[in-house]
Amino acid sequence: MACRRVLVVDDELEIRNLMKEFVERFGYEAETAADGREALEMVSLRLFDIIITDIQMPDISGLDLIDDIKKSYPDIELIAVTGYNMEYRYTDVINVGATDFITKPIDANELHAKILRIFRERDLRAELRRLTVRDVLTDLYNRRFFDERGKEEVARALRQKFSLFLIFIDIDKFKPFNDKFGHQAGDDVLRFLAEVITCSIRKDVDISFRYGGDEFGVLVPQISVDQAKSVAERIRKKYLRGKYNETSLSLGLAQLEDDGTGHDEHFYLLIKRADEALYSAKKLGGNRVSFYSDNASGD
Ligand code: GH3
Ligand code: MG
Repeated sequence: MACRRVLVVDDELEIRNLMKEFVERFGYEAETAADGREALEMVSLRLFDIIITDIQMPDISGLDLIDDIKKSYPDIELIAVTGYNMEYRYTDVINVGATDFITKPIDANELHAKILRIFRERDLRAELRRLTVRDVLTDLYNRRFFDERGKEEVARALRQKFSLFLIFIDIDKFKPFNDKFGHQAGDDVLRFLAEVITCSIRKDVDISFRYGGDEFGVLVPQISVDQAKSVAERIRKKYLRGKYNETSLSLGLAQLEDDGTGHDEHFYLLIKRADEALYSAKKLGGNRVSFYSDNASGD
């Protein structure tokens, strides 16, 4: 489990120390701030998952603090702490963006249950997000993500005038492999290829995805033609060093070219060209990289 950090904001020293102790006993990192101003400063410097804040404080009120935090840091969850006399209603604190609230005197079990629920729901949301953009078998991005992110990358490359390449990758003779060794063994090949791709590209810069079936791809921004070709070659050769030598890879490489049409049209054209290059690699016998060029597809 990743380290989870909670910030406790209360103007009363005893209360914030007590809550810090609770939170640490629950197994999370805890820090404290004496007022809203200090809390805002700390949040700007470090990452917090949850902020537990008193509502009645001398400088910035808890409600204003929640409002401020939610606007600038939407991923932080907030728990409002209200006084004994319940001067705020549940809807007041929820409307400004708090996830939950708890009343003084603080009951440790109740606080623990509320924090656990917040983390459980947050993990669930993260998992849902992951499932919508990832391919289950290989954990690479899926086609849906590629369609969205690809368009954004194309728009960015055109706007900022940097190069962008698309590599399409298809396994050669995968069907016979599946027929001979079975579907499970075929799945191992797909996972192996995903690993080969991941190890051959720049983390957090290049975007790899499973396009469908035995077809994969990589979006490679901001490099030269020769560098893009060597990325594709690296993938092809690394795959051959694996144990699936009844199969090999065909790769089609295409470069984004600015022809003055709309961004989406550029994206579709880039796909079409990478696909044509891939087709030409297959036609030439597979186990090779083909670079799309206008006059002749093939390298
Ligand atoms: P080529 O050399 O021309 O690329 O042909 P190929 O034999 O590789 O077959 P092709 O690319 O035409 O078809 C892809 C095959 O991939 C067909 C299908 O049975 C198999 N396949 C698609 N998805 C999966 C999967 O998730 N797991 C497994 N094991 N096989 C899959
Ligand atoms: Mg194939």
